[in-house]
Amino acid sequence: MSGLLDRIQPHLRDAPPYVPVEPPEEVARRIGLPAGDIVKLDANENPYGPSPRVVEALARGRSYHIYPDPEQRKVRAALASYVGFDPAWLIAGAGSDELIDLLVRLFVPPGGRIVNFPPTFGFYPFLAGVHGARTIDVIRRADFSLDLEGAASAAAEADVVFVASPNNPSGTLLASSELRTLLAAGKPVILDEAYVEFAGESLSGLVREYENLIVLRTLSKWAGLAGLRLGYMIARPELIDVVMRVKQPYSVNVAAEAATLASLGDLDGLQERVRAIVAERERMASLLAGLPGFAVTPSRANFVLCRLDGLSARDVHARLRDRGVLVRYFDTPLLQNHIRVSAGRPDQTDALMRALREIIAPARV
Ligand code: PMP
Repeated sequence: MSGLLDRIQPHLRDAPPYVPVEPPEEVARRIGLPAGDIVKLDANENPYGPSPRVVEALARGRSYHIYPDPEQRKVRAALASYVGFDPAWLIAGAGSDELIDLLVRLFVPPGGRIVNFPPTFGFYPFLAGVHGARTIDVIRRADFSLDLEGAASAAAEADVVFVASPNNPSGTLLASSELRTLLAAGKPVILDEAYVEFAGESLSGLVREYENLIVLRTLSKWAGLAGLRLGYMIARPELIDVVMRVKQPYSVNVAAEAATLASLGDLDGLQERVRAIVAERERMASLLAGLPGFAVTPSRANFVLCRLDGLSARDVHARLRDRGVLVRYFDTPLLQNHIRVSAGRPDQTDALMRALREIIAPARV
């Protein structure tokens, strides 16, 4: 067997794993709770689920045995009218994850480099590694804003720049002046707006102005389709044409297509939920900020990042999990002793706060 493994390209054989979140049923089984009792605030999912129209459309579907449209005509037309671009400027993928993968393949040769602004979404450096590329990290400032000078010199040596706004896990937004500075270096800039609906303002309009800007969006968060996988790219039609030629033809499956069309047909309903999530983010942030030892970063996304002082984040994370409340825990050099909590429904925030008060109170007396 070792002979076979030896034939794998070394950068893939020795690649570190991407660490995804554990399925809630697994956690429930491990801690002995019914799966329905789990309060899942660890993956920035939509606590209301998809639009009821999605569920109806999926139940009505009659063409699951037929391959989907490789040119995604209906999906692109619907997304185009949602974002105010012509369909020629758009292409969809199996989540924005698939499009990030395609973009690295398009722009970064083996041995090439990406620019990354940590702390941020770990998928960009992970995929760079899978493609045999390296990552130049330009570390964010203490308030999570970009070091623009560092970014400019890194971009000069790199093939592509990845920047998320709102950023995961800080929830902070990139200013248009900062994006323009990144674009001025002339390298392709991939602006990942996965959480933009919660911020209420997007920089995607700049795609018309800058040839080197590519925007990624997704229906995973605001539309609650994380499990069905629908992300999309907004870029110049010349680039979209190339992506269309090199992508997997059927990666947007028939169910994802139906779910996307149904979601975009229920904008009012989904936007009302987005408003509820934003209101809950604000309520949760102020409740968390009122706890001793919690420093909360103001967020424009559907989660909040907290630095814990005088409390162990690892401990808080584990004790929340034992009570069925899942949050994301970080203890990296740039994010020491932090947790990130997704905004849920009001009852989920209440369960979180009850659990936290139980955990913290005895530790403090
Ligand atoms: N970008 C960012 C910044 C994210 O946080 C996530 C989800 N964790 C994604 C992209 C992936 O989104 P999708 O579900 O569309 O692949």
